Amino acid sequence: MQHKLEYIFNYYGLKNQILKLQEELIELEAEINKVLMDVSKGGTFFPEGDHLDMLDEIADVLVVCEQFKNAFPLIGEIMESKVNRTIERIGYETVS
Ligand SMILES: [Mg+2]
Repeated sequence: MQHKLEYIFNYYGLKNQILKLQEELIELEAEINKVLMDVSKGGTFFPEGDHLDMLDEIADVLVVCEQFKNAFPLIGEIMESKVNRTIERIGYETVS
């Protein structure tokens, strides 16, 4: 999968993939809004219809984000420090 993501990123190039990321984020926001509207009216989350569409858009965003993470390993380092910062804030107990 990583090689395919690298191939896609290199095929389209950095500028196009920045635009793709923006496009996918806008699509995800629209689907999030639909789900939040439904939930605010008392609906519960279930992966069908608009709710499934939100998961589909999350996948789209992750596909592009993974391409950026592969191209810029700094993103992985930043992610790790942010996760560690959150764990320090909330605490974490390992289950053994
Ligand atoms: Mg999309």
